[in-house]
Amino acid sequence: CGIIGIVGKEAVADRLVDGLRRMEYRGYDSAGICTVHGGALVRRRAEGKLTNLTRVLAADPASGDVGIAHTRWATHGAPTAKNAHPHATDHVALVHNGIIENFKELKAELTAAGRRLESETDSEVVAHLISMQVEAGASPREAVQEVLPRLRGAFALAIAFRDHPDLLIGARRGSPLVLGYGKGEMYLGSDALALAPLTQHIAYLEEGDWVVVTHENAEIHDEAGEVVERPIQLSGASA
Ligand code: GLU
Repeated sequence: CGIIGIVGKEAVADRLVDGLRRMEYRGYDSAGICTVHGGALVRRRAEGKLTNLTRVLAADPASGDVGIAHTRWATHGAPTAKNAHPHATDHVALVHNGIIENFKELKAELTAAGRRLESETDSEVVAHLISMQVEAGASPREAVQEVLPRLRGAFALAIAFRDHPDLLIGARRGSPLVLGYGKGEMYLGSDALALAPLTQHIAYLEEGDWVVVTHENAEIHDEAGEVVERPIQLSGASA
């Protein structure tokens, strides 16, 4: 239901949770975060309120300067920790807002290919599809560009890559996603409000856009893959 991502120059876990807190008004049933740190994806999830997630994080912190986070409003699969986002393989972690309408056929295809999915969500298939591309040698950008056309339905996505601790990829079709420009940092969020303490400089991704986000740069592509510019505006959302 709410997404935030940070390509940061200092620790992101607290700031990710703060962003989730700012989206609590949307409603949610579970929450989670994943950072990229020390050659691994560091994932923490909890059912229920954000205090449950902060308790998990207090016992088992998630270090790292790059990460993604999510508050979930379940559409497919019970509101459990196992179904909470991020969904991940060894290589790829991802948060999703919306509904992947063709997830059953994608899941059947993945299962037939020997992939083991652990959740009941429609979202996890996307992590596996992207991961399969990466495992076969694709770059993050190539992997995402290959998989997006296969998805039916509505989505905003933020995707982290174990072997690329300096970038995130965002994508939107049918669900909103904004890009935030900081100083040596870049952000992704469901809305400008979530990013307000981090930056007021916002670009709204358009339908079908996907973006490769690094510390200094955001390379936005339209649905056809062309590099495009989206105007940077002042959000006016109060921190
Ligand atoms: N359809 C996904 C799920 O049920 C995402 C729901 C959301 O937008 O929070 O996990």
